[in-house]
Amino acid sequence: MENRRSFLIKAGIGVVTLPYLSCCSSFNRSITHLVSISFDDGFEKSFLKTAEIYEKYELNACFNVIASGHENDFKPPDGYIQPLIIGNFDLWNELKRRGHEIMPHGYIHENLARIELSDAQELIIKSLDVFSDKLINFEPLQAIFNFPFNSSSEELEDWLKDKVLAFRTAGSAVNKLPHKRQKKLTCISAGPDNIDLYFEEQLQKFLSEPKGWFIFNAHGLDGEGWGPMSSGYLDELLDRLQGMDHVGIMPVGKALLSL
Ligand SMILES: [Zn+2]
Repeated sequence: MENRRSFLIKAGIGVVTLPYLSCCSSFNRSITHLVSISFDDGFEKSFLKTAEIYEKYELNACFNVIASGHENDFKPPDGYIQPLIIGNFDLWNELKRRGHEIMPHGYIHENLARIELSDAQELIIKSLDVFSDKLINFEPLQAIFNFPFNSSSEELEDWLKDKVLAFRTAGSAVNKLPHKRQKKLTCISAGPDNIDLYFEEQLQKFLSEPKGWFIFNAHGLDGEGWGPMSSGYLDELLDRLQGMDHVGIMPVGKALLSL
């Protein structure tokens, strides 16, 4: 995979020849229902497929990756996140160049609410430092920090709020529509089995509400990762949502940065 990607980059495929995705790059006030599917953990095969599906509809995908997930000494937090199937910053930079959003999801995918506050703070800073060093045009103050396991504490949230644009943690799937100084974003997730039916059920509930911003934390596609979505379902879903004038589909950070 690494060789194939290097070849593609050298040949200019996927970097130069693909158009920069500019459609829907700012939050449109006529949208009453904004949908952000936030794909976590960094599965190489799934993220490439997800990007391809979003590009088919000229949309930007929202990916959250582990800062040290590509390192040889990375210790997976569970059986779903295996180093051999996780991508690296060559891929994250390639996806970012293609218009997709890449945001931090911890340094080692630690449960930050269960360790000492100072250790948790250190790991967050370390993850932001790695991103600043390895991801093109990364600015912590324009970043969304996606808590691993969506697990945070009030102290951590309070400390983090001035260091990043916003953070994502567990809570309601429905947030207020993007607005200035929106720091705390909440989401739901599901697993370990396929999430298509659950996602659809939650989405329909959201669409029946008057307005809001639906943030769902997904992972891989087609059997990869905890709570995978089917690629066929994602394709059909984006097609369907794009046909609804009052519905927008955007990455979390882009929605906030475009205000
Ligand atoms: Zn994760």
